[in-house]
Amino acid sequence: MQKTDHVIDLAGYKKEDLTVCLGCKICASVCTVNDLSISTSPQELLQTLFLGKDISADNPLVRYCTGCYRCTQACPWDIRIPEIVRALRDVLATGSPFEKAFKGSLDIWGRVYEPYVLLKAVPFLIKEGYLKHMNRWIEYMGIHLPHKVKKINPSNNSNGQKGGTL
Ligand code: SF4
Ligand code: SF4
Repeated sequence: MQKTDHVIDLAGYKKEDLTVCLGCKICASVCTVNDLSISTSPQELLQTLFLGKDISADNPLVRYCTGCYRCTQACPWDIRIPEIVRALRDVLATGSPFEKAFKGSLDIWGRVYEPYVLLKAVPFLIKEGYLKHMNRWIEYMGIHLPHKVKKINPSNNSNGQKGGTL
């Protein structure tokens, strides 16, 4: 049995805050998870929560919400659905290894410290066979091996102007 009030509280809301929901489902119409052909509705999640019913770890939003905030931007009341989803993941203990590593890093240093996050995520990455993409990650993380930089001769400046020293 989930403690609904606890989830809402963790998300930074009070239960009465959610009563403003119009049930218009605009959030559902823009939800990224629906773009993946997985049928879901942030509004239904809110309603279920508001009624004090359990939400399972298999709920598509609990599993796949990307935290993109498209729903919040579209919602007339700016209801922060992804924060509610994050609170649910906390309560259901279904956060991804990365989420846990990010939170751990914030608890220790107050910021995301990439080597710590990577270290914490390594067991998961090995288990799921993601290490084969390591070269790509290094590329994305902007870590480049040192390489020789060709010196430009200032006298060959195409504008015919004298360049500065490099
Ligand atoms: S934040 Fe989550 S619920 Fe909202 S639109 Fe993005 S994927 Fe959907
Ligand atoms: S867009 Fe906002 S008001 Fe409309 S159903 Fe979704 S959460 Fe409720």
